[in-house]
Amino acid sequence: MASIKTTCCIAGAGPAGMMLGFLLARAGVPVIVLEKHPDFLRDFRGDTVHPSTLEMMYELGLLDEFLKLPHSVVRQVAMQIGKDRVVIGHFEHLPVHCKFIALMPQWDFLNFIAGHARLYQTFDLRMRAEATGLIEENGRIVGVHAKTPDGELDVRADLTVGCDGRHSIVRLKAGLESDDYGAPMDVMWFRLSRKPNDSGETVGHIEGGRMIVMLNRNDYWQCAYVIPKDTADEVKRAGLDKFRETVGEMSPFTRDRLDEIDSWDKVKLLTVAVDRLRRWYRPGLLCIGDAAHAMSPIGGVGINLAVQDAVAAANILAEPLRRGTATIETLKRVQQRREFPTRFTQRMQIVLQNNIISPALGGKQPRAPFFMKLMQWPLLRRIPGRVLALGIRPEHIHTPDISSPARNAAA
Ligand SMILES: Cc1cc2nc3c(=O)[nH]c(=O)nc-3n(C[C@H](O)[C@H](O)[C@H](O)COP(=O)(O)OP(=O)(O)OC[C@H]3O[C@@H](n4cnc5c(N)ncnc54)[C@H](O)[C@@H]3O)c2cc1C
Repeated sequence: MASIKTTCCIAGAGPAGMMLGFLLARAGVPVIVLEKHPDFLRDFRGDTVHPSTLEMMYELGLLDEFLKLPHSVVRQVAMQIGKDRVVIGHFEHLPVHCKFIALMPQWDFLNFIAGHARLYQTFDLRMRAEATGLIEENGRIVGVHAKTPDGELDVRADLTVGCDGRHSIVRLKAGLESDDYGAPMDVMWFRLSRKPNDSGETVGHIEGGRMIVMLNRNDYWQCAYVIPKDTADEVKRAGLDKFRETVGEMSPFTRDRLDEIDSWDKVKLLTVAVDRLRRWYRPGLLCIGDAAHAMSPIGGVGINLAVQDAVAAANILAEPLRRGTATIETLKRVQQRREFPTRFTQRMQIVLQNNIISPALGGKQPRAPFFMKLMQWPLLRRIPGRVLALGIRPEHIHTPDISSPARNAAA
């Protein structure tokens, strides 16, 4: 079995892992990032890049280049909840450079970060490398076992960071305990082609216990058919014809192309979870992003939160990792910094799940929660936009750019 040694090994190259790897490498910390897939081209990734993440791009000096990638701009978020139309986010008052959410395929976002991270000699991204277990010595995690196309690989590291998402193998193997807050829904995820005369907007439809959201991805619609938790088998038993018929009833303009869903292989089940680790760390190990706290898709804030975790973790860890002085207290500071924003955001998601998603899936009329109606008052209406766009505790990049020879050469 091959074995390599680094300072920080990150399992998972989603928003949390990629951003953490980039910032640490940029600050001079040798990093290996393991990603089990061969590329980022999966269609089940969220597409929202929030103003706070765009502000980080500005702080990194990358904003102009980033905004050259194809994206669309969302300046206000509103929802029809039963009889109420509720504006959830006005962004025009935000104290940031981009007063909008950029809708961009997540693989473009991740490829962009990876491209910049690779300019640093301290950065090593291994694709098709799946973390399968932890290496533990005397009660301390000292690295991960990984499966690669070339065989088994041991990556030994001063610190291992689990960024492997809501089904994290790292948190499982570390035996970290989590509290499950429940989610009333799962999502069936599929594509339909988009035609020139289709509307350009994201389409949402709630009716008679059924719910569909269709995201405009230029040449196709990414469709999320929301079902009550654990009922995917029931939907499948009812048959593909019935499934197509239901989609057609909810989005009649798609009827001319429903035969594109010609097998269940075209429909992926995404299970939704909301949970949070009690302790995000152990000696030698830290979890951040969904690996520490699985987020619901509600509000589309999970990516934002994962990126903010990564920035906070890099701010706290970079110097101690470079000096070899990171202790369990250093890891504890990351949780202390990020736990409150996570708790608050998950609490909001659960309130919305209980007031909107659960009644809607139960065939009842959903109602806007009182606090949402209150926030429509002119004096208060800036608050939800700010929370949605920036999060509860926006992070800023404090890590230095000190390992830049390759970068300077490229420039
Ligand atoms: C249906 C659905 C829709 C959503 N839509 C949105 C949205 O529009 N906007 C939004 O902000 N949030 C959305 N979310 C939430 C969002 O996806 C997550 O909160 C966010 O992706 C968390 O980022 P992460 O980097 O922690 O984990 P992930 O994005 O899950 O990334 C984990 C990475 O680790 C890799 N990996 C997993 N296991 C291993 C392993 N053993 N070894 C190596 N690599 C591994 C994975 O391939 C992946 O690349 C949605 C969630 C769901 C369920």
